[in-house]
Amino acid sequence: MLPVAGTRPDLRSLSLDELALLVSGMGAEPYRARQLFRWLHQRGASSIEEMTDLPRAFRQRLADETRLATLSIDAVQQSSDGTRKYRLRTEDGKFIEAVYMPEESDDTEEEPAAGRGGSGDEHLRLRRTLCVSTQVGCAMGCGFCMTATMGLLRNLSAGEIADQVYRVNADLRTLGIPGERALTNLVYMGMGEPLHNYANVKRSLELLLHEEGAHFSQRHITVSTSGLVPAIDRFGEETSVKLAVSLNATTDEQREKLMPVDKKWNIAALLQAVRRFPSRQGRRVTFEYVLLRGVNDSAEDAARLAKLLEGMQVKVNLIPYNENPGLGFGDPGAERVQAFRKELTSRGVTAMIRKNRGRDIAAACGQLAVAGQPA
Ligand code: SF4
Repeated sequence: MLPVAGTRPDLRSLSLDELALLVSGMGAEPYRARQLFRWLHQRGASSIEEMTDLPRAFRQRLADETRLATLSIDAVQQSSDGTRKYRLRTEDGKFIEAVYMPEESDDTEEEPAAGRGGSGDEHLRLRRTLCVSTQVGCAMGCGFCMTATMGLLRNLSAGEIADQVYRVNADLRTLGIPGERALTNLVYMGMGEPLHNYANVKRSLELLLHEEGAHFSQRHITVSTSGLVPAIDRFGEETSVKLAVSLNATTDEQREKLMPVDKKWNIAALLQAVRRFPSRQGRRVTFEYVLLRGVNDSAEDAARLAKLLEGMQVKVNLIPYNENPGLGFGDPGAERVQAFRKELTSRGVTAMIRKNRGRDIAAACGQLAVAGQPA
């Protein structure tokens, strides 16, 4: 659907079909739509002027009648583990964050990433993951999360979600990482609740998966949710990427305190939604479980978690909490984390301990928040 008359459409948020309509409305040759789409999503153009193989008059009409919402990199922090945290500025002056995490993959479920601008060594499973934001701030109010302290300022458009990928790819090129599309994997786990911005998230996935665009594999994109049950059902039907569910507790009493969403959709309703989630093409759901010292990290919690997940083909990612000043939660420590995992695996649950990336630059899970947003 093209945006309402009177507003200039953002080229980066339009589908190829919508670009075709726009192009034909301007009297340009039909093949220009594909050319434009490639500039926007394959080459990650940041301006209309740089699309030099489009006729000058056509570019001028695009400049007059449309807009191109492009993020700018405001600041980059580099962690000792290779993680890079980007502070990106939207055109209306809001700040969001995206986190780049390079790692050699030992996950046998993942395909080798070579060939996507990689090292060329197909035995080296180098994964270059970007964690993207979907909203400026977040309305979900999870008690352990820094982003929650911002509240929700606004949704990001589909173009703004996708553009995080293009800006970071461009930055990685300046570091000598080869290829137009250096990033191999995406996780929608930055600022915001992705399914609370459903339409724009869905559109961004279509853009990023498109073969004429960034052409990510559906197996290499994971979208996370705090548990919006009706949206999970819809997401299962309407998209093809993976889902991660942020669980973080094993009783409703406990979860309600950590995640207000549980008052609306409790653990039973959430697990039913996961059971209904289509598992075609190996689309296994992952549960995220942030371990908080003395809150949800006991052997009893692990036993209850295993019981809840009985019979489900799921995997659990254990995330040792990254302490955030003022929120009042603590890191459980390596010993408790290992013990929790052991308890789960002894009960037949596949559980991995998520490496804490970028701790020294507050880029780790639950630590994203940008202070000083303009009103
Ligand atoms: S954990 Fe996720 S859903 Fe919860 S407040 Fe933070 S960003 Fe929002």
